[in-house]
Amino acid sequence: MPATLHRRTLATLLPALLLAACATPPSAPPPAARAPLQLTILHTNDHHGRFWPNSDGEYGLAARKTVIDRIRAEVAAAGGHVLLLDGGDVNTGVPESDLLDAEPDFKGMVVLGYDAMAVGNHEFDKPPAVLAKQRQWASFPLLSANIYQGSQRLFEPFRIFERGGYKIAVLGLTTEDTTRMVLPDHIRGLRFRKPADEAAQLVPQLRAQADMVIAATHMGHFPDGRRGVNAPGDVELARAVTGLDLIVGGHSQNPVCMLTESQRNEAYRPGQPCAPDRQNGTWIVQAHEWGKYVGRADFVIGGGKVELQTYQLVPINLKVRQADGSKVLVGEPIPEDAALRSMLQPFQQVGQARLLVPVGQADGEFDGDRVRVRSQPTTLGTLIARAMRERTGADLAVINGGGVRDSLPAGQITYRDVLKVQPFANTVVVLTLTGAELLDWLGAAAKMGPGSGGYPQTAGLQWRVADGRVLEARVGGQPIDATRRYTLAINNFTAIGGDGYPNMASHPGYVNSGLNDAEVLRGHIAARSPLKLADYAPDGR
Ligand SMILES: [Zn+2]
Repeated sequence: MPATLHRRTLATLLPALLLAACATPPSAPPPAARAPLQLTILHTNDHHGRFWPNSDGEYGLAARKTVIDRIRAEVAAAGGHVLLLDGGDVNTGVPESDLLDAEPDFKGMVVLGYDAMAVGNHEFDKPPAVLAKQRQWASFPLLSANIYQGSQRLFEPFRIFERGGYKIAVLGLTTEDTTRMVLPDHIRGLRFRKPADEAAQLVPQLRAQADMVIAATHMGHFPDGRRGVNAPGDVELARAVTGLDLIVGGHSQNPVCMLTESQRNEAYRPGQPCAPDRQNGTWIVQAHEWGKYVGRADFVIGGGKVELQTYQLVPINLKVRQADGSKVLVGEPIPEDAALRSMLQPFQQVGQARLLVPVGQADGEFDGDRVRVRSQPTTLGTLIARAMRERTGADLAVINGGGVRDSLPAGQITYRDVLKVQPFANTVVVLTLTGAELLDWLGAAAKMGPGSGGYPQTAGLQWRVADGRVLEARVGGQPIDATRRYTLAINNFTAIGGDGYPNMASHPGYVNSGLNDAEVLRGHIAARSPLKLADYAPDGR
């Protein structure tokens, strides 16, 4: 996808030249004499604990390393240089990683040679002491210009890298939505300023010092800026702040591959060509999630221009499901880097062993019987929904009975027991709806009759249902007010239409918290143990 970016006009060059004249004599030859720089930006985002491949052999740091090493060798042979960046959210999503505070993930990223990453909202899922430890493990900088503790920034705002005599500035930015996605204790005393305001201040300074200016962000890509209740994302940033050559993004967890300037290809499949977004002269890229892809952007910098030559998303052992249900690998199999694999192996083993450590106890069995969770309110359904409601602060929560896969035993409860109950690694979505919309949604839920996987288990809701119709519904003891706004926590499966629920994915009130459902339940059990069965008697229906 060849395209040209005319960036540095005389007006922007002048301050740079003046600065250079005042400073100590530059060691590099003057710009006019420099050969153009071939710079390949490699990028990932929303790794979410996926240091190890999944059971289908997809992604994982060891195969990612093989791909990155191959590209590094190819680029070096052609006389080019590489910068490896990440858009944040290394934390949270896989129990073996979560239980080790993402130590294998950060240490693995060091081996891969990451140059910098943006700070994501999930970097605050753990207490500040864990984040401090992670910053030590990562020898590369965690960048964020808009997070303040008092008048001081908590992180390095930017770093300027030298490649082949050229300077490349990388600025970090973090979504303001972090404040509503993490436990208040973990961000006490911190202030998240508007990313665009920080960028508006810093970008002109960075332009004066560097040949290319990149923002590594964790703000989300909302096509054409249609962001609903979310804080502004990369498109809004690019439109508000002129002077960024590239935004390496994360948070919305999409392959950012565009059909038109305002329409993303939501049906993107691995192996297809990918046209990144471009807004106000700024390229915007994002490599889906979990290390499924390594994004590769090949630039040429020279003569005051930053030009994108080619762009692609390189799939990491991804498989696509065929019509007959079988899964087929996209492209040639990528071998895992043996040294990294053996470095990560002990972490995987320790992580799995920790799944057997008790996380809490209960005075009786929480009923997850397959027939009953699909036909009547149960203690386990109430427990799961209550955990989701409390963790997100939503007004009410609903879990589909089909998402409850086992009972929770009496006595000691391990993380493995929790994973048997919720094995799908679903995430918790919070929908902000008007009372009228909520009533419509509950109307759909009420149709999920006994025996269906969609049968709703609830918390924070009292309702009467007959013949698949809602006769009466109260939230927090009050009748639903059609004009008020309510927050509803559900899992991502039902949120996108699973089990026959309405597909809410493009509703402006849709926010995926990224919280893993089993981790939310584990946290509730750990905090409330010993659990008393009587406290979870269903009271909703
Ligand atoms: Zn995020």
